[in-house]
Amino acid sequence: MTLRLLPEPLVNRIAAGEVIERPAAAVKELVENSIDARAQHIDVVLRGGGRVLISVSDDGKGMSPDELTLAVERHATSKLPDDDLVNIRTLGFRGEALPSIGAVSRVCITSRADGESDAFSIKVDGGRKHMVMPAAHGKGTRVDVLDLFYATPARLKFLKTLKTEINHVADTLKRLSMAHPEIAFTLTDDDRTRFQYGRLEGNLLNMRLERLSGVMGKEFAENAVPVSSEREGLRLTGFAGVPTLNRGNARAQYLFVNGRPVQDRLLMGAVRGAYQDFLARNRHPMVALFLDIPRETVDVNVHPSKAEVRFRDAGLVRGIIVGGLRRALEAAGHRASTTVASAALGAFRSGPVHHADERHRLSRPLQSSGGGSAIHANSINEAMEVVDVPSAQEGAAVDITAEDSYPLGAARAQVHGTYIVAQTKKGIVIVDQHAAHERLVYERMKESLAEDGVKRQGLLIPEVVELEETAAERICAKADEFRELGLIIERFGTGAVVVREVPALLGQADISNLLKDLADEIEEFGADLALRERLEEICSTMACHGSVRAGRRLGAVEMNALLRAMEATPHSGQCNHGRPTYVELELTDIERLFGRR
Ligand code: ADP
Ligand code: MG
Repeated sequence: MTLRLLPEPLVNRIAAGEVIERPAAAVKELVENSIDARAQHIDVVLRGGGRVLISVSDDGKGMSPDELTLAVERHATSKLPDDDLVNIRTLGFRGEALPSIGAVSRVCITSRADGESDAFSIKVDGGRKHMVMPAAHGKGTRVDVLDLFYATPARLKFLKTLKTEINHVADTLKRLSMAHPEIAFTLTDDDRTRFQYGRLEGNLLNMRLERLSGVMGKEFAENAVPVSSEREGLRLTGFAGVPTLNRGNARAQYLFVNGRPVQDRLLMGAVRGAYQDFLARNRHPMVALFLDIPRETVDVNVHPSKAEVRFRDAGLVRGIIVGGLRRALEAAGHRASTTVASAALGAFRSGPVHHADERHRLSRPLQSSGGGSAIHANSINEAMEVVDVPSAQEGAAVDITAEDSYPLGAARAQVHGTYIVAQTKKGIVIVDQHAAHERLVYERMKESLAEDGVKRQGLLIPEVVELEETAAERICAKADEFRELGLIIERFGTGAVVVREVPALLGQADISNLLKDLADEIEEFGADLALRERLEEICSTMACHGSVRAGRRLGAVEMNALLRAMEATPHSGQCNHGRPTYVELELTDIERLFGRR
């Protein structure tokens, strides 16, 4: 065997294997180049799902003939002017995309540099570079990729069906377009326009919501709350769907770091953590979150396709996402998704579903004095009892005609021992009493967890847990934080920890497993959130057991107290599994049902 340097075309083909795994990856690279070139319009055309042709045109700054020849060379980039890998401002920087694509297909790049009158083009054919030629072209650049992977038949075999590949391209382009509402995007495949997003101008928040509405659907825009959070130089913005607007998979979660779409485990985990006490395990929220973080604290150069990133302080990142999302959802109060009422109406009739105008409800302030006093409690146990037997008097006489009357109205009846029917100023509300009550108990428990700390329970015989030395160190470094959560631990020689007290909520938990999980999670996220989340999960189970069962008869006072408590309690629009706790039908909806409108 002879040791030798591989010839350039082969090197590029190997690189292409990493960077360009399917048509969508080529589209991503080309469109990112157009964005980096400050284009205002980007058009993507596919034939044969991208296998026959991918064409990306932009009106960006273009390339001169010299730049054209260099652009297709390996490691040629205009984006690292100071050799500074820390401060990366562009989407590209590796100088790999064009030579890689050129190595596995037939590429023709046509471009006219900004301010020039002549255009030029260059062809690369299976890695063979041709001469630059004069060409006819308007402003900007157009890259045509023909016969992708013809030079690497093995890769060709791994491509999925046409439809799957097109969907991947659409998803990729959508993600990029969400981060750039100021750019117009179109996707056409075999002469069919898949989507077309116009250029938006003005206030970033409005632009963004409008683009998100185009990409994720009007339903998302109508049922999302704005997220805005800042901490130690990190900024989280975007929109989060209310929990009752949920999906069976996590595909409607769009995450961006410094304007770059990412599919990152840490970020996805944080979103799950933030929603976990509103949603069942198999349901997923819809979110579009934009994290802006000092460039030196994130490494985007982890993966050739840059979909994964590495954070210097993963705990901080997770914290801002969980905290920011929870705060935003809290502000949504008792609001449930508009889709709930629409779905209810849809079940009644076959005609098209009209969305009720929900906006007035969203802006209504919560009535914190309502019946809240009936369920103020200090301890978890008290909370359960007090909510069970509301003593509020004000429930009996509820004036629903007043301008600022209670959003959930006055209880009129209990039906089937399960549902409360209330009359509001604009219509009726039907409340699932068990689901609503469960949520109230749970929120109360969490509140007392936050206010009074966690009740601890001493172990009769302290438990010694053997861990790896590094794990023991990590755990002990967090001893103070754990103490706040009711877990008292101490160092016990090398590689062991002694546990003296545990949170009472945990009951007879397997302590050694708990510590091992905690050590793993600290390593992964650098945070103690895991224990807090676990406690909240337990609260949720306990709340379910401590709640008003369906089937229990309630008096008018009790029913009204429940309604007032819901208004005063954040997150009361859905139960702990993401199901709605109430449905509102407006009179106009009811009139439509009866054909009066
Ligand atoms: P990178 O984007 O990492 O720099 P690429 O291989 O994708 O590497 O592109 C190489 C270079 O070609 C870029 O740095 C840029 O200067 C130029 N280039 C590529 N596409 C365009 C485009 N659409 N408009 C203007 N310049 C482009
Ligand atoms: Mg690039």
